[in-house]
Amino acid sequence: MLKIAIVGATGIVGQQAIVSLIGHPWFKIEKLVASERSAGKKYIDALKDANGSSRWWCTEELPSDIANMNVEEAASFDATSVDIIFSTMDASAAKELEPKYAKTTPVISTASAFRYEDDTPILVGGVNMDHAALLAVQQKNRGWKGFVSPKSNCTIAGLVVSLKPIQDAFGVRQVIMVSQQAMSGAGRTPGLSAMDMTENIVPYIPGEEPKAESEPQKILGKFTGKTIQNAAFGITATCTRVPVLDGHMVCAFVQTEKKCSPEDVKKVMTEYGRDFAELHLPSSPAHLIDVTDDPFRPQPRVDRDKGGGMTVTVGRIRKDPIMENGIKYVCLAHNTKLGAAKGALQTAEYLVKNYLKLV
Ligand code: NAP
Repeated sequence: MLKIAIVGATGIVGQQAIVSLIGHPWFKIEKLVASERSAGKKYIDALKDANGSSRWWCTEELPSDIANMNVEEAASFDATSVDIIFSTMDASAAKELEPKYAKTTPVISTASAFRYEDDTPILVGGVNMDHAALLAVQQKNRGWKGFVSPKSNCTIAGLVVSLKPIQDAFGVRQVIMVSQQAMSGAGRTPGLSAMDMTENIVPYIPGEEPKAESEPQKILGKFTGKTIQNAAFGITATCTRVPVLDGHMVCAFVQTEKKCSPEDVKKVMTEYGRDFAELHLPSSPAHLIDVTDDPFRPQPRVDRDKGGGMTVTVGRIRKDPIMENGIKYVCLAHNTKLGAAKGALQTAEYLVKNYLKLV
C-alpha cells in the first residue's frame, strides 16, 4: 500500500478525501496535516468549532482510527514520510508549501496555486491525461523528485468533460456559461452564512469567473512537448451561489465550428470516455457522462452522486435559436467529489499507474 498524507485534512475537501480513501485498494491514509490551529490535536478534536460542535461534513461515518489520528502541522510536515501528498489546503498556503513538498514527493492538489504555471498541467480524468507528460518538464525545470499536479477549478470540472466530446467531433468556437454553485464550494473557513444563503441567490463569487474563463482552454489545449498550447475558443462566464449543499450546475451555450444537431451532441457525449473507463481506475465511474432526456434533470440532489459522484449529468440538449452553430445544455457535477477530492484521487490513481508506475 502507498502511504498518503492529506494536507488540509480538516476542510471540506480534506474530509471528502478521507471518505474517498477509506478501503482504497492501493492507498492508505498515513498522515493528517493542517494549519497551526489544528496541529497537535486528535483529528476529531481539530474538527470542533469554538463552541465544541463537530464540523465533520460528510454523511459517511468517520472511522475511529482516523478520528484518533494526531494532526501534524503543514509548515513542519516531513514530506518524505509518505509516498504521495493530497494537498487540499487554501491556495495561499499551497503556494508556499507545495513546492517544498514537491522537492521529494508527488503532490496532487485541489488548490489553484500551480494551475497557471507553464510547466504544469491541469489534469481532468478522461479529458487530457496525455498532458501528464508535462510533469516531467516541471520536474526537470525545477529539479524536483516529486511534482505538483493540480485539479481544475470545481465550477468547470463538469463543463470540460462535457465539452471534450463536442470539441473532438465538431470543434468549439466559443462558450457562454452561467453557473449555479453549491455552498460547499466556498469551503468551511469561514464558510457562508445562513443569513446570506437561505432563500437567496448570490450573483457573485469572488475570483471564480477568471478561473472559469481561462482554465478550460488549457485543459482542452494541446501538449506540445514543452508546454500546453491553449485551445483557441473564448469563454464568458457568470458564476452564482445558490442554496444547494453539493453539486455545481452549469448552463452552457456552445458555438461549434461544424454544424451539429442536439442528437449528434447526445451521441458523442453518450459514447465518450469508454477508453478511459477501461483503465479501471478504482475511482473512475463506468460512464463519464450520463445524458438524460428528462427535461427536469439534472438536479443536484438527485443526480450529483451518480457514478460515486464522478459522473457528469447532461440534460436539456437543444439547438440555440440565436447563435450560429449553437447548442445549449445544462450539466451538473459534484463539486467536492469529481470537482475536488475524488477527482484528485482519480488523478493520483492515473499517475501512480501510468506515470510513476508504482502499481
Ligand atoms: P476549507 O474547508 O476552508 O479547508 C481549508 C483547509 O486548509 C483546512 O484543512 C485548513 O486547516 C487548511 N489550511 C488553512 N490555512 C492553512 C495553512 N496556512 N497551512 C496548512 N493548512 C491550512 O476549504 P475547502 O473547500 O476544503 O478547499 C480546500 C482547497 O480546495 C482550496 O484551495 C479550494 O480552493 C480548493 N477547492 C475546493 C472545492 C470545494 O468544492 N470546496 C473544489 C475544488 C477546489 P485548519 O482547519 O487547520 O485551519
